[in-house]
Amino acid sequence: MAELRGVGIGLGVAQGPVARMAEPLPAPSDGPSALSADEEKARVSEAVAAVARELEERGAQAGGAARDVLEAQAMMAEDPTLEDEVASRIAAGKTGEFAVFDAFASFRDQLTALGGYLGERAADLDDVAQRVIARLRGVPAPGVPDPGHPFVLVAKDLAPADTALLDLDKVLALITSDGGPTSHTAILAREKSIVAIVGVAAAKDLTDGEEVIVDAAAGVVTTAPTAEELERALKRAADRAAQASAPLTPGALADGTAIPLLANLGKPEGAAEAVELGAEGVGLFRTEFLFLSSNQAPTVAQQKEAYTALLSAFPGKKVVVRALDAGADKPLAFLNDAHEENPALGLRGIRALRASEDILREQLTALAEADAATRQTADGPADLWVMAPMIATVEETEYFTSLAREYGIKTAGVMVEVPSSALLADRILGIADFASIGTNDLTQYTLAADRLLGSVASFQDPWHPAVLRLIREVGQAGRENGKPVGICGEAAADPLLAVVLVGLGATSLSMAPTALADVRASLLEYTLAEARGIAEAALAADDAASARDAARDAAAAKGTVAAG
Ligand code: PEP
Ligand code: MG
Repeated sequence: MAELRGVGIGLGVAQGPVARMAEPLPAPSDGPSALSADEEKARVSEAVAAVARELEERGAQAGGAARDVLEAQAMMAEDPTLEDEVASRIAAGKTGEFAVFDAFASFRDQLTALGGYLGERAADLDDVAQRVIARLRGVPAPGVPDPGHPFVLVAKDLAPADTALLDLDKVLALITSDGGPTSHTAILAREKSIVAIVGVAAAKDLTDGEEVIVDAAAGVVTTAPTAEELERALKRAADRAAQASAPLTPGALADGTAIPLLANLGKPEGAAEAVELGAEGVGLFRTEFLFLSSNQAPTVAQQKEAYTALLSAFPGKKVVVRALDAGADKPLAFLNDAHEENPALGLRGIRALRASEDILREQLTALAEADAATRQTADGPADLWVMAPMIATVEETEYFTSLAREYGIKTAGVMVEVPSSALLADRILGIADFASIGTNDLTQYTLAADRLLGSVASFQDPWHPAVLRLIREVGQAGRENGKPVGICGEAAADPLLAVVLVGLGATSLSMAPTALADVRASLLEYTLAEARGIAEAALAADDAASARDAARDAAAAKGTVAAG
């Protein structure tokens, strides 16, 4: 038996035989073309158009987030700059196949060099190139295997076109050797609740037919599992299925303490699913996701439309909208124009907004207008809260909250993602109406580990007692000031860590909607006093792994078995 580690997406567990994705097509030769340049160009145009249409059709068939991803890929295929690059190589006597291969590869390298969100789109570009080359050669595009029975799909990275149309009756789980937690494979796996682990470097050694357990909650692939391990995994999968169909009660601890369970959303279209899965509102609406591909700042009217749709979907419920969080892993062309050596430590979040205050003012205008436009909702209007990203100082808190109040925003708060603001939470919460802790960035900055970098992924663990101590500071400051403290980083989606966070003083938890059922079930197992005891056990540890173990032991000592 061996354990291969990666980044788990979601909390599921699955088992089955491996089936590997076919290897990419071999690189075309660099030799001269036997055809004229015009003939080569015509062949490439036909192939590109056909691939773009096929991607659009797959998108229409898949719907949801997959449609957006595939439409973006179809646009990539027909990008005029890429077309010019291909044409210039053909004009230099190359074959269509080579011209496509080489031009797309140079674009891919540029995207990879940019890193972050754009870097992770490199795999999408590779997939388009492979599809066009396959078409030019008259061979099928490399794709998902069909061994004739359900299987665990193992791939280098999965193209959106493949992930979108996965047959979920056949694909038991996904393992990729590349890709981080924000790759498209991860995003779509999360959306479709596919058990997945990405960034498993050792996955290249897995062979067809080999039996594995894929434990996304632990981020571990177990090869050659024992009968006992298989049985345990089966039981966990069955327990999880039972939890998913449990009644949608509001989030609460065993003693009845209410802990509202909210959704993290990036688009208003995600609202229906969140409501269906029992979200009691929205704890984090990432407005920057609406405009990642825009070159210009969105207009007030465009924004108002999106925010109105969001607020209308949550009548009578709390909706926390975050002002644009631009920079580092989520650059916005209209807010981050300067080149920075270390963008995670640069002009990002509230700093970037402040440098372009007109954009922040327009966003607050649009939010206030959307709020006013939805006041007459039949079941009562949504309760709009607005918060600023990446607040590092008391002064920034004053700046943002007074600006928001100028626009009539009634509840103005801050995200605590930088250790300085956690340490000064008592003063910050004297000013802001609420705090929401972004554990993804708080962990990145506390441990000085880039959250997108595979080589330091082991540091990016919110169980680290240093992170837990900072969260305790904020929880305490919230209690003393009588202000709510939410959690909206990925940590809130870990069922046992969710209990610890509540023990440290969190008053609500916000997460990807697919994680709600597991967290709801876990909270119901413990009283507030027990949650505090489990948090104490985790705080007393030296490192993340021992904090997790200590919390598990403390939870088990209450006579319960903790999930995750
Ligand atoms: C976080 O940093 O934890 C957070 C919720 O914000 P984002 O992941 O969008 O940076
Ligand atoms: Mg953040």
